[in-house]
Amino acid sequence: MLTKRDLPRCEQFIGGKFLPSVSGKYFPLISPETEEVTAEVANSTAEDVETAVQAALHAFKHSKWRLSPELRIVTLRKLAAKLRENMPAIVEAEARVTGRPIREMRAQLGRLPEWYDYFASVAETLEDTLPPFGRGYLNYTRREPLGVVGLLTPWNHPLLILTKKLAPALAAGNAVVIKPSELAPVTINMLAELIHDSGMPEGIVNVVHGLGSVAGKALAQNKALSKIDLTGGTPTGREVAAAAGRNLIKVAAELGGKATSIVFDDVDLTAAVNGTVFAGYIASGQTCVQGARVLVSDKMYDRFCAAFVEKVSKLRVGPPLDNRTDIGPLVAKRQLDRVVKLIETGIREGATLAYGKAPVPDTGWYVSPTVFTDVTNDMTVAQEEIFGPVVCILRYQSEKEAIELANGTRFGLGMAIWTNDIRRAHHVAEQLEADIIWINDHHRIGPASPWGGFKESGVGRENGIDCYKDYSRLKNVIAKITADPFDWFDGAATDKRYS
Ligand code: NDP
Repeated sequence: MLTKRDLPRCEQFIGGKFLPSVSGKYFPLISPETEEVTAEVANSTAEDVETAVQAALHAFKHSKWRLSPELRIVTLRKLAAKLRENMPAIVEAEARVTGRPIREMRAQLGRLPEWYDYFASVAETLEDTLPPFGRGYLNYTRREPLGVVGLLTPWNHPLLILTKKLAPALAAGNAVVIKPSELAPVTINMLAELIHDSGMPEGIVNVVHGLGSVAGKALAQNKALSKIDLTGGTPTGREVAAAAGRNLIKVAAELGGKATSIVFDDVDLTAAVNGTVFAGYIASGQTCVQGARVLVSDKMYDRFCAAFVEKVSKLRVGPPLDNRTDIGPLVAKRQLDRVVKLIETGIREGATLAYGKAPVPDTGWYVSPTVFTDVTNDMTVAQEEIFGPVVCILRYQSEKEAIELANGTRFGLGMAIWTNDIRRAHHVAEQLEADIIWINDHHRIGPASPWGGFKESGVGRENGIDCYKDYSRLKNVIAKITADPFDWFDGAATDKRYS
């Protein structure tokens, strides 16, 4: 059973053991709420990454994991059960580390076991195929694991995002090396403890810490990997994909976003306001599918903006562990500085600051929930990923213009359509350039439901059977099952089949 720890030391987890980095150095983890040091984190280097990759390779080759779907299914279900049992401690730790309100973490992390159960079931039920081939042959396919996979994960949903990668990677029989964000390593180590307790062979899951520019880079470039899977910013995605290209390995990259919600004028105003405020301010806006841009019909623009601002003005800014908190502190000082700078840019470029003055505590990296109205699509705040509690409301005149505006960004991850017109909802969904479209909702996700980006939001898909398949490779076995003689070079020079 996990217990609360006041100042955990986050060591690396390699070959089933928690170990310091080779350098013996640590860096401090700072609380977004109190600005105090709350943990020391092993500062992994390229040497540590190589050790972790070798441990993973060894486990992949020599344990039963690769060869025994039965072992994987039982272990993943055990892990799901252990997660359920230990959820309160994990929820509290993740809220402390990220600053995200505990109510959010409870709702989000409570669902993690579903991913391990789901992918165990995929491994249990996915069948191989017998492609048609011809008389006299047994022709079948086999799905096999890739080998060692590198997982690079961000700080905003540390365990959820890791789980979306880890569950399919393990179910398919791979070994992994994880490099979590330097800002959110604590709950990843808690998961490693549970993995250890679930009886998974040592070395199948390894965790290194350290900086993205050092440990992350070394992992992405490691030549022994068979796949690298990143969730992070678009610039990191380009670097990681380039390294994967040089090593000719698979890459999946879930990258930045700037989700748009389109509000049509037939909708119920209260439902649309409640939904778009949820979309914009959950996780204090620190999420890749944040409903950062709301497009509102000119016919209801003023009414909508007034109701939206009224709702936002009631959001409670406060400490992450308070059950009543709606908006916690941002994860790091550098995020706070970035968000404040972008708010100033919005004002300078002529957007109207309709709300941005909720009182925030003196200590901690808090920023008021902010609403910009009269935003145009060329403004920086309408285009750049702010990753904070800032929402821009834009005006449109026609459905055609709404679609053009929605597609008028370099990102293509999530979008939402708010309408009661069923024909319009699906007609518009068809034309939006994004992978995940919600109709009259936002942020919904499930282990079976594909997730990934169009355009600069990434490549590859998380969740679902396709993701499991992406963590495996296909082998085709063609077996001759007759004793018919065959000799191409028998000198007869007759037509026969060799292919
Ligand atoms: P980063 O791109 O900064 O980091 C992501 C991970 O990669 C971290 O573990 C980081 O380590 C590591 N990393 C950083 N630089 C390199 C490098 N050169 N080579 C290898 N690894 C590296 O993203 P953030 O952590 O700041 O997360 C926020 C971003 O993630 C946003 O753009 C957001 O939209 C995106 N995101 C996308 C999601 C999606 O589903 N599409 C979901 C959630 C977030 P370190 O932290 O130590 O620097």
